[in-house]
Formats: sequence, C-alpha cells, structure tokens
Amino acid sequence: MDMAKHLSETELSAKILRHAVPKMSELKVPVTPENYAVWYEYYKGINLDLKRAIDGLLSNNVAFTPDVSSSLYKNYILINSPEIIENVQLETQVLINSLLAKIGSLSKDTSRFSDSLTEFDNALKQDPDPVVMQKLVKGITSELDEIIAVNGEMDKSLTSMNEEVIALKSEMVELRSVAMTDQLTSVNNRRAFDKEVISHIDSFNHSNFDSSLLVVDIDHFKRFNDIHGHLVGDKVLAYVAQALKNGVKGDDFVARYGGEEFVILLPNTTQEEANIVAENLRQKIAERNLTIGKDKKLPLGNITVSVGVASLKAADDKDSYFIRADEALYRAKSSGRNCVVSERITETAI
Ligand code: GH3
Ligand code: MG
Ligand code: MG
Repeated sequence: MDMAKHLSETELSAKILRHAVPKMSELKVPVTPENYAVWYEYYKGINLDLKRAIDGLLSNNVAFTPDVSSSLYKNYILINSPEIIENVQLETQVLINSLLAKIGSLSKDTSRFSDSLTEFDNALKQDPDPVVMQKLVKGITSELDEIIAVNGEMDKSLTSMNEEVIALKSEMVELRSVAMTDQLTSVNNRRAFDKEVISHIDSFNHSNFDSSLLVVDIDHFKRFNDIHGHLVGDKVLAYVAQALKNGVKGDDFVARYGGEEFVILLPNTTQEEANIVAENLRQKIAERNLTIGKDKKLPLGNITVSVGVASLKAADDKDSYFIRADEALYRAKSSGRNCVVSERITETAI
C-alpha cells in the first residue's frame, strides 16, 4: 500500500488513522502512543522492515501481545526511525484535538435532546383526562424513558472516551520527553539538542543576542573504563551530566551529544562569560574525588574534562556552530587536556 502519494499530511494522517485504529482493535492492540506509532508506520508503508515484520506476524496468525507490540516498537520505531516519533505525535495530536472538539459538541447535543424529551414527557404527564390518553401517555413515557436511558449511556460512553483521549494525550507528552531524554544520564539527548540549537539560531537571526556553546569531553575515558569497568564508567557519565547541569543556569541547555561528550548551549552569554562558566565546570569536576560502593569506600581517583568554546555568528548553522566549538575542544585535547580552549578568532573578525 502506498498511502503517501497525492495526499496532504493531514489527509494522510486521517486516512492512516481510519485504517490503523480498527485494525488495532481487531487485533486487540491497545491504542497507546507507542502502539499507534507502530501501526501508523505500518500503514504509511515507508518503513519496509517494519512492514515485513508485521506482515509476517499477520500471516502466521501470531497474537499481538504486549511483548510483541513492545518489541516491534523498540526494534523498528525507536531504533530504526526515531525521528518519526515526533511526527506521529504531532499528527496524532491534531487528530485528537479535532476528535475532542467533536465529542464536546456531541455531548452538548445529546443532553439538549434528552432535556427537550423530558419536557415533553412532563407536559403529557400533567394531562389528567381520558383513559386512552393515559395509556398513550404510559406508552410514550416508557419509550421516552428508554430514549433517555440510551442517551444517558451515550453520554457516559462519550465521557469515558473523552477521558481516554485525555489520558492518551498525557501519555504522549510523556513519550515526547522520553524521546528527548538520554536514558543513561537523564539529560537531553542529541535529538533534543539538534532541535534546540536550530530554534536557538532561528531566534538569534530575528533578534541578535549573545550565544555561546561548550563542547565538553571526558579525558582518557577509555582508560577509565578499562581500569574500573564499563558499569562504573556509566555511573561516572551520569555524575558528569548532573555536575554540568547543576553548574549552569536554568536557561542553559545541557545535552549528551554522544559517548562521553556533552554540549551546553548558553543563551545571552558572551564568549568571555562562557569561558568563565566552562572553567568553573572544569574545576568543579577535576577537584572531586570520586568514590563508589557501599558507604562510598572505594576510591576511583579523579576524572577531568576538556572544553571547547565557540560563540554564535550571524552566518552560522547548527553544524558550523558545533564544528567551531569541537575544533577548540580538539586543541584543548592536544594541549594537554583538563583545560578550556576558545575558538580561534578568525582574521576577518580582528
Ligand atoms: P580523550 O581524552 O582523547 O577524549 O580520550 P578518550 O579515551 O576519552 O576518548 P576516545 O574517543 O578514545 O574514547 C572514548 C571512550 O568513551 C570509549 C568508550 O569506552 C567510552 N564511552 C563512550 N560511551 C560510553 C558509555 O555509554 N558508557 C561508558 N562506560 N563508556 C563510554
Ligand atoms: Mg574523551
Ligand atoms: Mg569523545
């Protein structure tokens, strides 16, 4: 199936929703954001590995248990195409909002309908006269009671649907934050940084402000892992991430760029100020005697970091900005590590 051709994004989302949701309910797959992302991708038809995997499961009549669903999500969405998570969320949110609006107006209509039926019912009840009339009234009343009951049920199911949608929305907010957070260190991940730096540069181009970027890399971390083991190394990574986060202001954006390398975006910060921030962070980390184990008895010695600093220029995009800070980091490494180095001042800037 190739749904992607000749359709606008919203039409495509709506079309996929119409196919995916009934299929999920047929297969008894709960409509959670993760599962929806899987089935969205399946019907979009672009993720061929996912499509093959699901087609295989379907043709072998394999049940879509929570384990099966979760491994589809992990193996084909999270790992192979993490960038779709965000798109699915956005598109699903648009659909959910329109669904919510519809539910809102429907609820109002049905309760108005039962109100007017109740009024009619009351009017008939007030007419005391002939026996036939009374019988008729009885019949109508019971019919009305039934309609009112049905309407009540409908209202109830709309309310519970409404609640489900609200729960789904909050799950999505959570999924979004999971997709943007580095699991090991709990700081922002590379995707979050890329997104942040793009919007940062965009605002910089609209209203000129100072912006600086630090690239922080742990020194000789391979050696540290070799001596103390990878698991201890993981703990140290989480410690460094928190030390960086605690050492900067609320507006500053700390992310794990990859491996043992972190980036910090400092809005409204000149290069001189950024150097001071970087130097403070470097010192704080270098001074700390690391220990591990029960009662923190086992000494691990110290670790140090090297830092490269760059400041944003009008012509920068996210890559050129990062590359300048990374080049400065490279020079910090080659000049002995455990130090802060700023980008080279270019000739045109002098
Ligand atoms: P340099 O001072 O030049 O940066 O040396 P280095 O050893 O830190 O740099 P190199 O790039 O040679 O090696 C990086 C090491 O970081 C390799 C790997 O063992 C370690 N590392 C990367 N990611 C992780 C991780 O998630 N957990 C652990 N424990 N170690 C990691
Ligand atoms: Mg390193
Ligand atoms: Mg590195």
